[in-house]
Amino acid sequence: SKEISGNSYHFFSSGMDTRTFEIVKFENALYKALDQNELMIYYQPQINYETNTIVGVEALLRWNHPTEGMVSPDEFIPIAEETGLIVPIGEWVLRNACLQIKEWHRKGFPLISVSVNLSVRQFEQDNLFGMVKSILKKTELAPEYLHLEVTENQIIKNSDITLKTMEQLKGLGISIAIDDFGTGYSSLGYLKNFPISTLKIDKSFVQDIIQDEDNAAITNTIITLAQNLHLNVIAEGVETKEQAEFLAARSCYLMQGYYFSRPMKAEDIAELYLSCGV
Ligand code: C2E
Ligand code: CA
Ligand code: CA
Ligand code: CA
Repeated sequence: SKEISGNSYHFFSSGMDTRTFEIVKFENALYKALDQNELMIYYQPQINYETNTIVGVEALLRWNHPTEGMVSPDEFIPIAEETGLIVPIGEWVLRNACLQIKEWHRKGFPLISVSVNLSVRQFEQDNLFGMVKSILKKTELAPEYLHLEVTENQIIKNSDITLKTMEQLKGLGISIAIDDFGTGYSSLGYLKNFPISTLKIDKSFVQDIIQDEDNAAITNTIITLAQNLHLNVIAEGVETKEQAEFLAARSCYLMQGYYFSRPMKAEDIAELYLSCGV
């Protein structure tokens, strides 16, 4: 058996008992993380390739763990979702991302938007709409600068309540993007019913567009679908100039990826702007 007081976290041990035990330990650590300012938000620029400007940033959560170092959200978000901790964590991300963007607006930086990822558990919480509305009010960020990213699996999981909440959010002027588009298991029918403004092409398609004909075909299809439905389309995971050119040749100009910038600390984004003489 394992030491209860050990400092090292083995996030995904095999074996049921160990796993249950690790989840509890992990949950406690994550709860503390929220309390003790170990969570941080990195920001990744979203580019308009045609105008060569930053139009927004995506807020990406990081856990600066005292002994494990920087822990990736892919490791802790699933557990935060399982335990419900994603609700207070998600609220924390939303509030701090809105505060940050508003501060940049106040400083006279270009009026960029912020995209915040939402988990399905947040739609199941009591009053997601009221929470978002009050954060916008308190931070004084105009709703048009807040974009919310939701995956299609999340949409279909709880469609009645999700639809209602999305309509309220849209009514405020917030726009909603479908994240990881094309990787879910849903039909396309929901695109008609849900108030969606953007499709986000997943990096798993973008990464191989040059080498893999199937991924190129899927990417082409998503772009065309978005254009035909009068939706915006943004590609994530753009790592090379060739990929950027491929997308731009199909009029998909909104892009995000290491080719332009990795996710950065807020200070580094600010420095980027200051160095451009804003
Ligand atoms: P996602 O929303 O699909 O975010 C895109 C992921 O791709 C991010 O990983 C980003 O850092 C990474 N990425 C960006 N450009 C490139 C690139 O050019 N190449 C490659 N290989 N990767 C790139 P990250 O930051 O590790 O986040 C992973 C996932 O965790 C996110 O996937 C999202 O589903 C989730 N997540 C992150 N922050 C939050 C949050 O605040 N709330 C919720 N609910 N989920 C979050
Ligand atoms: Ca996202
Ligand atoms: Ca993705
Ligand atoms: Ca995702």
